[in-house]
Amino acid sequence: MEIPEKEKRSLNFIEAIIEEDLRNNKNESRVHTRFPPEPNGYLHIGHAKSICLNFGLAEEYNGLCNLRFDDTNPEKEEQEYVDSIKEDIRWLGFEWNGKPLFASDYFDQLYKWAIKMIKDGKAYVDDQPQEVISEQKGVPTRPGVESPFRNRTVEENLELFQRMKNGEFPNGSKVLRAKVDMSSPNMHLRDPIMYRILHEKHHRTGNQWCIYPMYDYAHGQSDYIEGITHSLCTLEFEIHRPLYDWFLDQIAEGSYRPRQIEFARLNLNYTIMSKRKLLQLVEENLVTGWDDPRMPTISGLRRRGYTPQSIRSFADRVGIAKRDNVIDVGLLEFSIREHLNQIAPRVFAVLDPVKVIITNYTEGLVEEMELINNPEDPASGSRKIPFSREVYIERNDFMEDPPRKFFRLGPGREVRLKGAYIIKCEDYKKDKNGNITEIYCSYDPKTRSGGSGANRKVKGTLHWVSVPHAIEAEVRLYDRLFMDEDPDGHKDKDFLEFINPDSLNILTNCKLEPSLKSAKPDDKFQFQRLGYFCVDKDSSADNLVFNRTVPLRDSWAKKNR
Ligand code: ATP
Ligand code: MG
Repeated sequence: MEIPEKEKRSLNFIEAIIEEDLRNNKNESRVHTRFPPEPNGYLHIGHAKSICLNFGLAEEYNGLCNLRFDDTNPEKEEQEYVDSIKEDIRWLGFEWNGKPLFASDYFDQLYKWAIKMIKDGKAYVDDQPQEVISEQKGVPTRPGVESPFRNRTVEENLELFQRMKNGEFPNGSKVLRAKVDMSSPNMHLRDPIMYRILHEKHHRTGNQWCIYPMYDYAHGQSDYIEGITHSLCTLEFEIHRPLYDWFLDQIAEGSYRPRQIEFARLNLNYTIMSKRKLLQLVEENLVTGWDDPRMPTISGLRRRGYTPQSIRSFADRVGIAKRDNVIDVGLLEFSIREHLNQIAPRVFAVLDPVKVIITNYTEGLVEEMELINNPEDPASGSRKIPFSREVYIERNDFMEDPPRKFFRLGPGREVRLKGAYIIKCEDYKKDKNGNITEIYCSYDPKTRSGGSGANRKVKGTLHWVSVPHAIEAEVRLYDRLFMDEDPDGHKDKDFLEFINPDSLNILTNCKLEPSLKSAKPDDKFQFQRLGYFCVDKDSSADNLVFNRTVPLRDSWAKKNR
């Protein structure tokens, strides 16, 4: 009997917590998660992990998952990012509960709760500048210094906060702080800032507000408003959890409480995953945009030829950890190779062509050779490709003076042209620079693939494209964007110093089998013996453009040894 996928592995620690909560009938045994991106950039593969986790748990436990934009920072947020985030989540195959939600929808409620906290003596307006406030916070081993404004009367606080909201004060001149504990060993509890003054237009609320809530004051409250049960975030928020709970205690009625749970963020070697730095790559034109196929963004991976399934299986493989770790980017490449091996039709493409002339083949004769589209998928059938007296092969499939183990073409040697005949190299021609221009071969007519003489064996098999039938294409080969395993991990060096100057190699003289003429953006193929490729969005009927998604094997591991 097949073991269902879920039972094969033990529960991860978050599933264990959820199941415990369900057993205890906590929050009426609901499971309600949320994915809370800040719309200040495009989503990256790290976000994909969080999406798979949040939406995945909701599916697993028959719960719900909200999409909530954490838009409390008007300076950096834009509608373009909101749209791209929605597109990326749907592309991954998830659908959020109801409409997309926005923290900015809760600005009124958050304001009312701030008033309540002032009235309860739990919040006060501080007139000191930011630097002084930070300084008074001090160090964890010694109590901080209380602000001289800490014990303002409720009336005075209410009036000042109202005037902050009305726009009567300039940026930075006042803040609203929670009155928690200036001697707490947890620095986040030393009277954290709840609101700052910011005369800035917001992408949704326009000029309605000139005070904006801080992340810590908005996040747990938003969870509470939405009825979230399990609020998953990355490890750096562990230290914020007491404050998350403290704020909820100030506002919550009844027994329902969202619970914050932290997990290890995804780190990939050779990869930058901070939105700020990805934005820098875009703004400084070091890549062509957020969806440049070298970017670790979901849109970049999509354009590179990754499938949603491959990203989801990657997220599964990485699993959920409680400790920070670094995942080999090779695992991501493995996941796409594995999926494309299942689904990508095999085709012939010669990226660096050299011409072979088969001297004893009848001039003008064209034979249709039948080739299987995908041995992994019998339903995909076969196709016919034309064979003629002149074919292109890959330049590096020929050597003038090959070593013994070079099982490809060389003077006097034989190879099989896949799906066609065995040919033997009789002669070749070079230009004055020593480059091979033409290779002259004979063929053995008895060796046609599938025919009665086809059982004669030779060691090498090459892919090829008939010269008069070839269609031209541009092919973009990508390599890692960074040459260092941890480009962001050097104190004395900026990550930009590690940019790989050869991360993009554009080939313009590639020759493809004619069946690719009608290939459309996003179509995926295996170019036999070379790798997996997809049609780029820049492609058109008379200017085909392909991206290499991944080579067939991990050549980087070898190169770096
Ligand atoms: P960045 O540091 O790249 O700017 P962020 O955490 O500020 O990312 P948000 O938009 O706030 O970006 O993230 C939305 C959600 O995605 C959060 O719940 C966050 O914890 C999660 N997330 C972000 N980066 C990763 C990552 N590398 N691995 C797993 N989850 C992540
Ligand atoms: Mg964030």
